[in-house]
Amino acid sequence: MPVRSLPGGAVHSETDVLIVGGGLVGASLACALAQAGVSTRVVEMSPLDGDRQPGYDERSIALAQGSQRIFAGLSLWSALEPDACPIHTIHVSDRGHFGFTRLRREQEGVPALGYVATARVLGKVLAQALQQLDSVEVLAPAQLGAFSVDNEGVSADINCQGEIQRYTASLLVAADGAQSGIRERLGIETTRRDYAQTAIIANVSTDKPHNHVAYERFTASGPLALLPMTEGRSSLVWTVRADQGEEVMALDDAEFLERLQERFGYRLGRFTRVGRRNAFPLQLLQAAESVRPRLALIGNAVHTLHPVAGQGFNLGLRDVAALAEVILDARRRGQDIGAAGVLQAYARWRQGDQRRVTLFTDSMVRLFGQSLPPVAWLRDAGMLALDVCPPAKRWFGRMTMGRAGRLPRLARGLSPVDD
Ligand SMILES: Cc1cc2nc3c(=O)[nH]c(=O)nc-3n(C[C@H](O)[C@H](O)[C@H](O)COP(=O)(O)OP(=O)(O)OC[C@H]3O[C@@H](n4cnc5c(N)ncnc54)[C@H](O)[C@@H]3O)c2cc1C
Repeated sequence: MPVRSLPGGAVHSETDVLIVGGGLVGASLACALAQAGVSTRVVEMSPLDGDRQPGYDERSIALAQGSQRIFAGLSLWSALEPDACPIHTIHVSDRGHFGFTRLRREQEGVPALGYVATARVLGKVLAQALQQLDSVEVLAPAQLGAFSVDNEGVSADINCQGEIQRYTASLLVAADGAQSGIRERLGIETTRRDYAQTAIIANVSTDKPHNHVAYERFTASGPLALLPMTEGRSSLVWTVRADQGEEVMALDDAEFLERLQERFGYRLGRFTRVGRRNAFPLQLLQAAESVRPRLALIGNAVHTLHPVAGQGFNLGLRDVAALAEVILDARRRGQDIGAAGVLQAYARWRQGDQRRVTLFTDSMVRLFGQSLPPVAWLRDAGMLALDVCPPAKRWFGRMTMGRAGRLPRLARGLSPVDD
């Protein structure tokens, strides 16, 4: 790493990329870059271990098939696989109405439509991988302070447990989540919608096996997903109106399971146990810009979605794969990786996928939030049509498996530097 002297006397080796945020998305980018020899620093507010990092919690992440390929390309899949439960079928239904649709792995010709793993497992595997890579340095717990950008590079003050250090890099990546301080400080505009809904997550046990089916059930108060997990458990993501969140969280386990049974029905038999519950308020957020000279935004910092279709992290991971590819290509050509032209190529590439997935997710929330009889009838007719119409089903399959649009090399099962 080249060394640059800085005003104030502090001297730090300069890195190619400074990533702020070591959540699932920031840590994945650090792995992708450091594996290819790009010198990288990650700044994370919380200690980067499974127990204290809030992004590495018990929420279950449905990984699209494209995300599995990205993790395989990063040589991380073998570590994740034992704790990832394959999804063979996706079953979507509308509570109290006739519509339903199914997607099966056989129709798509894939071993699994996706996989379910907890954020904690994903985080642990990523943190362990980072520890073993020479080209990456993790500063945690540490926080980004003042930063500036000029033609030469990025200069950032990092508060490491009360001591301020200055670091420089060619490129700053904001992977600092939905409340991105970098985005706010640069005045990048956002479109936001508060869904006035709360997602309650918990692991549950049922007396019938899940048989690797992921259920998405739309109810009058919001969608309810049950995802298959290892050891026969299922992971619940139950969306309720924000004004009901506290009451549902306060129910004792027996009352909670009774309420859940009434909402979900008996497809999995009786609910027998529920683990610890957590609640997340839900919003839609889209940033108006995802790049500035020497700056790129990725993951929740640029798009925060409703979890209804399980797309947020998958979309962020495709940001990671695309940005890594653009950076590595630029380096190979001898270009400055922070140059506006290089970063605009990333922004243009990601725009279509980000818009498509955001619209898909938001439309599902809106469409299934309607209880007016003609709307409910039309959407149920649409679901049945989707079930029997092969081209529509193929489109639905591509969206859910993360295979729509131009895919980065990693998402096609190639190394990020392959031709
Ligand atoms: C209930 C629920 C279920 C979900 N299910 C799915 C699913 O099935 N499939 C799917 O694909 N997605 C799912 N998601 C979405 C997914 O969890 C998120 O998209 C993903 O975790 C976002 O990761 P991130 O790294 O971009 O952001 P974050 O996890 O928010 O990470 C940002 C990090 O930046 C750090 N940070 C912030 N500011 C600073 C600073 N100034 N200095 C240093 N560090 C800083 C924070 O500490 C944090 O660790 C779900 C979300 C919810 C709420």
